[in-house]
Amino acid sequence: MSTIRKMRFSSVGGNFFKELKEQVDAYFERTGKSTKGGWALYLQTTAMFLWLAGSYTLLMAVDLNPWLAVLLAISLGLAIAGVGFNVMHDANHGSYSKHRLVNSAMRFSLDLIGGSSYLWRHKHNVLHHTYTNIEGLDTDGDAGALLRLAPFQKWHWFHRYQHVYVWPLYALFALKWWFADDFRELITGRIGGQPFPRPKAVGVMTTLFGKVLFFSWAFVLPLLLHPTWWLIPLWLIASATTGLMLAVVFQLAHCAAEAKHFDASTTPEMPLEWAVHQVTTTVDFAHKNRLLSWYVGGLNFQVEHHLFAKICHTRYPAISKIVAEVCRSYDVPYFAQPTALKAFLSNVRYLYQLGRKPMRVPR
Ligand SMILES: [Zn+2]
Repeated sequence: MSTIRKMRFSSVGGNFFKELKEQVDAYFERTGKSTKGGWALYLQTTAMFLWLAGSYTLLMAVDLNPWLAVLLAISLGLAIAGVGFNVMHDANHGSYSKHRLVNSAMRFSLDLIGGSSYLWRHKHNVLHHTYTNIEGLDTDGDAGALLRLAPFQKWHWFHRYQHVYVWPLYALFALKWWFADDFRELITGRIGGQPFPRPKAVGVMTTLFGKVLFFSWAFVLPLLLHPTWWLIPLWLIASATTGLMLAVVFQLAHCAAEAKHFDASTTPEMPLEWAVHQVTTTVDFAHKNRLLSWYVGGLNFQVEHHLFAKICHTRYPAISKIVAEVCRSYDVPYFAQPTALKAFLSNVRYLYQLGRKPMRVPR
């Protein structure tokens, strides 16, 4: 059976990550803090699930005027994304709790909000985290012909407008994930063209059980309780909110002019050592915005996340200072946009630049 294509990283500059790890380990030893979430994360999890359940229950149980229903659909979409950022992401990395059982239970939160935790671990933990921004291996940077997200991707004339039409596409992202991507990947055994080990029965069963649960609460129950055409715009509003939030937050870190991209087609080895590669392909933003950090589950500290995915997101603000310092001393370009708006504008600029006809058209 074919397996995921392997890519080597340069071994030059190996001391950077060694020193970084030593300093981060020393921080946890000195402070006595756990590398996992603890009570702060349990509280955050409770808040996210209460937000989700509250929005859903009000939508289902109360006879609302249309505008209030629209606001609650947006609230539900934000809460679904919030569970994704804060609960499922850490749990699937094994950084939610030091107890394996708790991590396993929390992983399933992704299945409850429509995705497949089993497929996510291959797509995100293996492909995206190992081969960040490497064309042909990191599937997050490949949205098909409609979007040109990396300089090595083929250019089409309509990419000139991609900075405009990307938003409705992002809005469809959740629907595509729920209804198409997971099923296609399970059936074909490939994620973005890369084969992955055939799922064991438990992986398939978990995915299908999760899909049945999700479709039941998200679509069947509302249809039984309120058989009205109004459900269609409410579904679209909630799913568009989730899709936009997930896509934008994940894209701000890697789809920016400050984040490097690499092509795997011409070389068996990347020019940078793995940890340096992670720093140069990833951008942080809005370090000082505590509300945003809370909502996006520390994904504004993506450099720290890419270097230390086994450490819970609640610890990233503290270790970001160590990362910045060690990067400075090793001359590794660590970049953090000061605000979310600046990161957003950088993303739009990047999409605009990649949409212009390149001097040399790739492939
Ligand atoms: Zn991750």
